[in-house]
Amino acid sequence: MKYDVVVVGGRIGGSSASLFASKNGADVLMIEKNQEIGTPVQCAEATSSRTFQTLEIKPSPNYIRSEIKGADIYAPDGTCGHLEGGYAEGFILERKIFDKELAIQAANFGAEIMVKTKVKNLIKKENKVCGVIAKHMGNTIKIKADLVIVADGVESQVAQMAGLNTKQTPNTLCSCAQYEMVGLKTDPHYLKFYFGQQIAPKGYAWIFPKGENVANVGVGIRSNTKTAYHFLKKFASSLDATPVELNIGGVPVSGPVEKTYTNGLMVVGDAAGQVEPFTGGGIHITAHCGRIAGEVAAKAIEEENYSDNFLKKYEKRWRNEIGKDLKDSLKYRKILDQLSDEEINMLAKFLKTQDLKSISKMSMLGFIKEYPQFLKLLKEIL
Ligand SMILES: Cc1cc2nc3c(=O)[nH]c(=O)nc-3n(C[C@H](O)[C@H](O)[C@H](O)COP(=O)(O)OP(=O)(O)OC[C@H]3O[C@@H](n4cnc5c(N)ncnc54)[C@H](O)[C@@H]3O)c2cc1C
Repeated sequence: MKYDVVVVGGRIGGSSASLFASKNGADVLMIEKNQEIGTPVQCAEATSSRTFQTLEIKPSPNYIRSEIKGADIYAPDGTCGHLEGGYAEGFILERKIFDKELAIQAANFGAEIMVKTKVKNLIKKENKVCGVIAKHMGNTIKIKADLVIVADGVESQVAQMAGLNTKQTPNTLCSCAQYEMVGLKTDPHYLKFYFGQQIAPKGYAWIFPKGENVANVGVGIRSNTKTAYHFLKKFASSLDATPVELNIGGVPVSGPVEKTYTNGLMVVGDAAGQVEPFTGGGIHITAHCGRIAGEVAAKAIEEENYSDNFLKKYEKRWRNEIGKDLKDSLKYRKILDQLSDEEINMLAKFLKTQDLKSISKMSMLGFIKEYPQFLKLLKEIL
């Protein structure tokens, strides 16, 4: 078997790379280890319209469960800040359907897909990746390729086989546990976030509505004292609802890996740490980077240049286009890490009195005068 491009992993990163590589003329094979694209879900399924713009697809009612107009954010003492529109607007997807739909789009542009096939190793020749060795239904298959795009998620191993350091550790990850719950009385157009050491240490709990009485209820933590599942059970026990699904997974929240390409290979999405560290949102970033990897791959095929030097265009482009957002997001996550519950309460009470779109310098100064401990944090933000 021989393809221009082999893509490892068949969710957002893999399908967006396959879609744009195929669209731009490359002969693509996408390989997914699970028997079905999109399952099991490990996601709270919130995303913004940027995802659809990037992928050049129209949002479809087939997979949109809720249109989101804003968010309620709860401090540990229950103080609630409300965000309306802007950054808080978006959609809750049904990723089982969305991910499969994206793979179908890639297939419609000519990408071939193999499911229930696990990439076990890379084929290398003279320091260049030139294919993969995969296992399908007990058979080992050698698949040659000019380029390999790795989108195998947070537990990525394939990029490491090419010498890239994509390894995540408990310290660089946020541990998450989530139920999809039925019976919940929550506004279908608003997200809910809950902060506090007792609720979700160094993270947050969420309720993301999926229509009228279904919601994703989850917890993301960075603490090794108790598991995310422990905090999820505690949080969910206060809700009058019952689970129909449980997901457990990690999110890389320490910023992108140092290098995302080498001779004959690029790495995309969670596997490359391309996630917003503050929110843990990776769908739109992964789609963005997947698209760039697909486009660069097609160009590399056209120019018959698969070298490290050519593929650095991929890293240059994604760092230029979204690198600053990821850096800022990491900065905010580190600032939040430093705040005690009491300080989050103070900040929430102050923000509740402000128009968040235009907080004046005078009111900021008034707040710092009252609570000078925030001066250092303000300097870090600025
Ligand atoms: C609980 C939780 C909630 C989240 N909530 C949100 C949210 O609300 N909004 C948001 O934007 N982001 C969210 N995220 C992050 C988001 O889900 C990820 O950033 C995104 O799915 C990354 O996509 P990906 O394609 O890089 O990786 P993945 O979605 O992990 O896909 C990787 C694929 O590769 C396959 N694979 C792995 N190894 C191999 C192999 N050797 N051979 C073949 N196939 C292989 C896997 O089976 C999988 O299908 C959440 C994450 C978690 C864990």
